[in-house]
Amino acid sequence: MVLIVPKKHFRSDMKYLCRTCKKECDDIPTHMMKVHKFSKSIIDSQLKSNPNTFKNAFEVL
Ligand SMILES: [Zn+2]
Repeated sequence: MVLIVPKKHFRSDMKYLCRTCKKECDDIPTHMMKVHKFSKSIIDSQLKSNPNTFKNAFEVL
């Protein structure tokens, strides 16, 4: 089974502001895991079903 790593999708020079906690980050999945205690498996499955899942919760800076 090939594991798709959607993280790559977010890798860029862009920064994001989390609307929930008002903190900046440059990696949305990592932020969700570290700050909001989302498990990696949940994030992966959410991104697989909809790559924009978390983008709505972040503002691009
Ligand atoms: Zn946050």
